[in-house]
Amino acid sequence: MNIKTHRFQIGAFEALVIQDGSRPGSLEAVIKRYPDVPRAALENAAQTLGLDWDAIELSRNILLLDTGAQRVLVDTGEGIGDGQLTEALPAAGISPERVSIVILTHGHGDHIGGITNAEGRLLYPNARYVMWKTEWDFMLELAQQVEDPDYAAFIRRNLLPIQDRLTLIESDTDIQPGIRAFAAPGHTVGHMALLIESGGQRLLHIVDAAHHPAQITYTDWSPRFDRQPELARVTRRALIERALSENLPVMAYHFPFPGLGRVAQRGQMAVWEAGTP
Ligand SMILES: [Zn+2]
Repeated sequence: MNIKTHRFQIGAFEALVIQDGSRPGSLEAVIKRYPDVPRAALENAAQTLGLDWDAIELSRNILLLDTGAQRVLVDTGEGIGDGQLTEALPAAGISPERVSIVILTHGHGDHIGGITNAEGRLLYPNARYVMWKTEWDFMLELAQQVEDPDYAAFIRRNLLPIQDRLTLIESDTDIQPGIRAFAAPGHTVGHMALLIESGGQRLLHIVDAAHHPAQITYTDWSPRFDRQPELARVTRRALIERALSENLPVMAYHFPFPGLGRVAQRGQMAVWEAGTP
């Protein structure tokens, strides 16, 4: 097992990024994920940004924050099958029993799949869970409507066991002092982003508001996973604008591990600059 981890500080908070898993990048994969973006535009972007599609993995970067008082996990990864988080946490010296808060940024399978194990038991048995209310309602309704019985069972297995330990939020909320959740809709109806702040240091976690670093420049590109592409664009632009104007370190769930960097201005373009704070 070769699981990637990266430790850093945000003021007094100890932060750890764990790679739950990764898919290799390629131009063909990008074409599949962005069916509305013509191949010529992708080739043009590669030239403009000097990027190599093959070198840009689709990672799953899980953030764990130790605030001193709480251990806060941001999403649970893919779970059964491909998810490595369950093995990685103990390997990094963290007992899942000690995770006290799990923030579920949205209901996609690669974020909620690791809430329970195959028997439906909670992998973080002592945590309380936080999700946006519209997202929770949407997911439970989806479990009723979706035609794929396996997907319906997957949603139920992961979400129903947390019902009585769940805080649903409907507006910007300090989940803990220094961990602020705010609405970042479009990728899903109740997708949230986080602003983490301690000791004068900050981190803006945009989660899935962008999936690929090229979207920092080409903000109108929406992958087929964006449920409301128009709204996703507005949200993406607002987050990028904020990162630029406040010079914020940024984390993105799917950018190449550990998904940390900054948005920089290059001429008229905003570009992603990977780098660890
Ligand atoms: Zn997603």
